[in-house]
Amino acid sequence: MGCGSSKVLPEPPKNCYVDFVKSVVKYKNKRKDYEAEPLKPPGGKSDFSGIWNRDQGQHLLLPQTSSCEDGQKRNKVAKYRAKFDPRVTARYDIKALIGRGSFSRVVRVEHRATKQPFAIKMIEIRAREGREVCESELNVLRRVSHRNIVQLMEVFQSQDRVYMVMELATGGELFDRIIAKGSFTERDATCALRMVLDGIEYLHSLGITHRDLKPENLLYYHPGTDARILVTDFGLASSSNKDRDWSMQTTCGTPEYIAPEILLRRPYSRAVDMWALGVITYIMLSGSMPFEDDNRSRLYRTILKGKYSFAGDPWPCVSNLAKDFIERLLTVDPGKRMSATQALKHPWIVTMAASSSMKNLHRSISQNLKRRASSSHCNSAKSGQSGRSSHSRRVWEKELLERNLRQQLPPQK
Ligand code: ADP
Repeated sequence: MGCGSSKVLPEPPKNCYVDFVKSVVKYKNKRKDYEAEPLKPPGGKSDFSGIWNRDQGQHLLLPQTSSCEDGQKRNKVAKYRAKFDPRVTARYDIKALIGRGSFSRVVRVEHRATKQPFAIKMIEIRAREGREVCESELNVLRRVSHRNIVQLMEVFQSQDRVYMVMELATGGELFDRIIAKGSFTERDATCALRMVLDGIEYLHSLGITHRDLKPENLLYYHPGTDARILVTDFGLASSSNKDRDWSMQTTCGTPEYIAPEILLRRPYSRAVDMWALGVITYIMLSGSMPFEDDNRSRLYRTILKGKYSFAGDPWPCVSNLAKDFIERLLTVDPGKRMSATQALKHPWIVTMAASSSMKNLHRSISQNLKRRASSSHCNSAKSGQSGRSSHSRRVWEKELLERNLRQQLPPQK
């Protein structure tokens, strides 16, 4: 991922296939916000062999899976199933592939006993980068329990892979929903942002910085209108146990969302998430990016200057309060940038844009989003990346980031 973190996962055990369920996060039907409680296996030890059943609190002897299935679709699923440890497939029925990351595959599964759907993120941990990403993600997900943060249910580890069983989000990405909805007002934007801010405020209160907030990592839990948003993808997250402010130095993120202080390679804080939220809010209200340039050097220079504008459609129709909210997040000085708590108290959020016009921004937003999508398609075709999905292109950007920064920024003082 081009993220030069020095964190490394412990070496996987050599002589066992599935060695342990390293950690299981307690599943609560009624989860209390702001409460993170790692689940202890029987006897209170945190590491143990075998698989712990959350409901009965005992070790189970697990049957092997059956293997006779036919049909093309089933073959495809069978291909992925083959990558799964038999003890995972004994417990979960692999249904479909729903996403790919740089080191991971995400599949929809069904718990065999309860028939409940979940997502399993399978991460390859042979390569160092995969182990680092996996470690970052687990460090965070083990500690959190909040309605706006994806919930980890249990973890399996084999020699080459880690399998994270998580809540399944079926409502799609934030912007897919905006486009599908047909109508989108400032009030809708504040509803979505409130949920994201609640999640971020919670993370920051625990000393966790996401470091890769972007619309693709904000998923709706279900397709219904009342669905909550889940913050996902903690592969670049930094987790600290300090109560007070903390500082990070690793250069990572996705270029368009990176805060100026990261580009300057100065020690930075959780304020980087608030910058990214400013970028997300800007896109949410307009369908265009505040900082965008095919040339990375120019992009980074614009970010460093904090140079963006509210010109063009639909900005004349957007309230000054919404613009003020964005300005207080896209503030170059991280010390002057709003925190998550302050953002939740901003009048635009508190009043749910009550004083703004209820103008439907949908047309401008989707036109701008489409224009962007088609121009990035042309650019990727020109640069020979036509085969890449938009997701892998983002990953590619992440991988290039370290190199780009080294080449294009002034030397570190
Ligand atoms: P990476 O960290 O490697 O980028 P992601 O965590 O972003 O991987 O996941 C890859 C894909 O899987 C994304 O398209 C994402 O939308 C999807 N995905 C991840 N977690 C879930 C989940 N809990 N429910 C549904 N889809 C998910």
